[in-house]
Amino acid sequence: MIIKYNDETIYSLIKIIIMIATKKAPVKATTNSPETDSRLQEFFHGELKDIYWAEKHLVKTLPKMAKAATSQELRDAFNQHLEVTQGHVGRLEEVFNILGYKPQAKKCEAMEGITKEGEEIIADTEKGTATRDVGLIFAGQKVEHYEIATYGSLTQLAKTLGHDEVANILHSTLQEEKEADEGLSGIAENTVNEKAEQE
Ligand code: ZN
Ligand code: FE
Ligand code: FE
Repeated sequence: MIIKYNDETIYSLIKIIIMIATKKAPVKATTNSPETDSRLQEFFHGELKDIYWAEKHLVKTLPKMAKAATSQELRDAFNQHLEVTQGHVGRLEEVFNILGYKPQAKKCEAMEGITKEGEEIIADTEKGTATRDVGLIFAGQKVEHYEIATYGSLTQLAKTLGHDEVANILHSTLQEEKEADEGLSGIAENTVNEKAEQE
C-alpha cells in the first residue's frame, strides 16, 4: 500500500505532534475533601466554618446594636458595618467555592459569648444615654478584635497552604474589620466618652 503524503497532511501531522508534545500536565484538582485534605487544610476549613457562623450571627446582631445606640453617629456606624458584614459573608462563600467546599457554618462559641455580653451591656445601661453608647462601643470593638485576630491568622494560613487568591480575599476583609475598629475608636474619642462623663 502506498500512502501519499501531501504538504497538507504533513502539516496537520506536525500540528498534532506539537499539540501532544505541548499538552500541559493535567491540572491538579483544586477540590478539597475530608478524605484527601491534610491535617492543616482540615484545620483551615474548620476555622472558615467558624468565622462563617460568626459573620452570619453578626448580620443578625448588628441591627440590634444600631437600634440600641443613642447617638446617630454610632447608629450609622453599626448600620454601615452591617452592610460591610454582609459582604464578608459573601466573600467567605466565595472562598468556600474556590476551595471546592460547600459553604458550611460551625457555631463560634467566642462570637456567641461576645454578642451575649453586648446584650448584657444593653440591658445594664439606660436607653438614650451616652453611657449606653460607651458600652456598645466596647462590645463592638470586642467583636472587631476577634475578627481581626481570626482574619489575620486565616490570611497567613491561606498563604502557607498556597491558596493565594483566598489569602487576598481574606486580607480584604481583615482591612475592613480594622477600619470598623478604628471608626469605633474615633466615635469614642471625639464625642461619646466625654458626653458620658457628663451624665
Ligand atoms: Zn466581618
Ligand atoms: Fe470562633
Ligand atoms: Fe466586623
